[in-house]
Formats: sequence, C-alpha cells, structure tokens
Amino acid sequence: MPDYTRELEVALEAVKEAAAVCRQVQSSINAESLEKKDKSPVTVADFASQALICRRLQDAFADDPVIGEEGAAELREEAGQEFLQRIINECAAVGVSATGEQICDWIDRGGLQEYRPRLWTLDPIDGTKGFLRKDQYAISLALIVEGRIEVGILGCPNMPLDPDNPQSARGILAWAVRGGGSFVVPLDDGSAAPQQIHVSQTADSPRARFCESVESGHSSHSWSGQIASQLGITREPFRIDSQCKYLAVAMGSADIYLRLPTRKGYQEKIWDHAGGVLVVEEAGGTVTDIHGQPPEFCHGAKLINNEGMVVTNGKFHPAVVNAVQQNAPAE
Ligand code: AMP
Ligand code: MG
Repeated sequence: MPDYTRELEVALEAVKEAAAVCRQVQSSINAESLEKKDKSPVTVADFASQALICRRLQDAFADDPVIGEEGAAELREEAGQEFLQRIINECAAVGVSATGEQICDWIDRGGLQEYRPRLWTLDPIDGTKGFLRKDQYAISLALIVEGRIEVGILGCPNMPLDPDNPQSARGILAWAVRGGGSFVVPLDDGSAAPQQIHVSQTADSPRARFCESVESGHSSHSWSGQIASQLGITREPFRIDSQCKYLAVAMGSADIYLRLPTRKGYQEKIWDHAGGVLVVEEAGGTVTDIHGQPPEFCHGAKLINNEGMVVTNGKFHPAVVNAVQQNAPAE
C-alpha cells in the first residue's frame, strides 16, 4: 500500500497556513463591506489561500498538478495591481514574503482542468457566502491518485470544537487517509492528540438530522423538505455553508447531507467535494449522487457523470436515495 504520510504532513501545514490568512482577512470584514455586498475580502482571501497552499505543494511535490478554483490572469493585468498588493500584504502577515509575480505563479499552479493520474484539488475558500457573513467556510484539499481520493483535508476555521455547544472554541482541522480513518484536531493547537471521528449511529430516519446549504440556489430546499416529510424527519434542517456539512456528518452531529440540484445540467465541481467525501467515508459514512451512483473523480474539474450528492451515516442510505428519487421535481 502506498504511504501518504508525507503528503498528509505537507497538506496539513499548507491548510493551517491558509486558514491563518483566511481568519486574518475575515476578521477585517466590517459592516460596510457587508452592506455594500463587497466581495473583495473573500477574493483577497481566496487568492492568498490558493497561493499559500500551491506554494507548499510545489516545494514538496514539484511534479504534482493542482485543480484549484482560482486563476491569476486578472492579477497580472495593470488593473489588478492594487488588488495583488493586498494579497502580497496578507501573505507577508502570515510570514510568507513574496513578489507579486511569485504569488501569481503559485496561484496558477492550481490551473489544471483535466484529469491526471495523480493530482491535487483545492477549494481555497469553500462557502464564500458564509465567509462574508462571518459564518462557516472551509478550506478543502485532496490528493487523488488513479481517480481515487487518497488524502482528504478540511480546514474549518469557524466550526465549534464541541458540536453541541456553539459557544465553544472554534476551528477544526479534519483529515483522512484512505484506509486509515478520519481524525480531527483543534486548528489552533498543533500539539493536541488527534481524535478519531465517527458518523452517528442513528438508524431510523425519523430521528435523523439533515444538513444542507444555507443558499437555496445551491441546493433545493423545497425538494429536501419533501424528502424529510416522506422520511418522517421532524427536526429542522441544519443549514451551514461549505464542506463543513461533510464534517458535520463525519463527526456525527448530522446524519444526512443533501445536495439537490436546483436546475438540470449543473455539474458539481471536484473541489466542492473531494476533501469532504473521504473524511465522511473514512468516518464510516456513505456518499453517492442523487441516483445512488458513487462520485467519479476521474474527469477533471467537473463531476460530469454525477448529479447532486447524498451523504449519510450509512445506516439508511438506500432509503434516503429512494426518497430523493421519489420526490424529484417534474422536468
Ligand atoms: P454551499 O456552501 O454548500 O452552499 O456550496 C458552495 C459551493 O456551491 C460553491 O463553492 C460553488 O462552487 C457551488 N455552487 C455554485 N452554484 C451552484 C449551483 N447552482 N448548484 C450547486 N452548487 C453550486
Ligand atoms: Mg466551493
């Protein structure tokens, strides 16, 4: 069996550094930027996060390509220079001094779109809207070899350490290596012993708790409402942004995560899932698309053969997929 210890080590350090930059930028979001719906804070953090992670991957695994969400084309133009300076400053503030050109080159290392036998995929900030609301977001990184996720990492800087206590300290780093289980540590405590996590034991769907996107444009709330009523679920859905939903299922604080297409033809992006999928599977859960098919990570940037996603603790997966199908909106 290949040993991915070094890949995991490098990737965890990369995600921690990116989380520091994201926190730094998020703390500067003020009422004014929210009022103006100013997206620039998230964009600065997106670029800085991608640059920092791609830099570390390049240093350690020079030949590995990366499918990342961002590209630096606009930052290389005259009009992008002021923005680039903000990214340079944010990177410097976490101890990475670099020129604009270096930063653009790191970002563009994430420019792969097609499949390769070995690649990384990165969402430098998943859950943009949550980030702007000062709520949940995730940094998601995964190593995919021969179309199989081998390492999956989620940095969740705002997730409460105690899922039952929203006031508890925040920030979770979660990871899984195929065959080795899923683990978490507090993001801020490098010396803490990793804790293995497991999905819930909930076995009857009426007691299940399901989570979904805050944004009804990303996952149909009306469809999930019908599914919940067919399954006899009475608890209100747990709505959070980003792949923190995968972490919630992996840690057992939710039993189901539904991602239901709001329109025909939307193709899920590899970086919105790969990190989270392995963390759930290695915690004992099951992930398929809405048709019950396993997600395919061998097509490049998009999951072209899948629609939506259904994630459960594995105890009643077929029943959930059936309910999804039976309540599918008429075309
Ligand atoms: P969430 O935080 O779960 O709402 O998901 C955020 C992700 O939704 C973003 O990273 C986008 O890539 C993705 N997204 C954007 N538009 C759609 C859509 N129409 N359907 C599903 N996902 C989308
Ligand atoms: Mg995303």
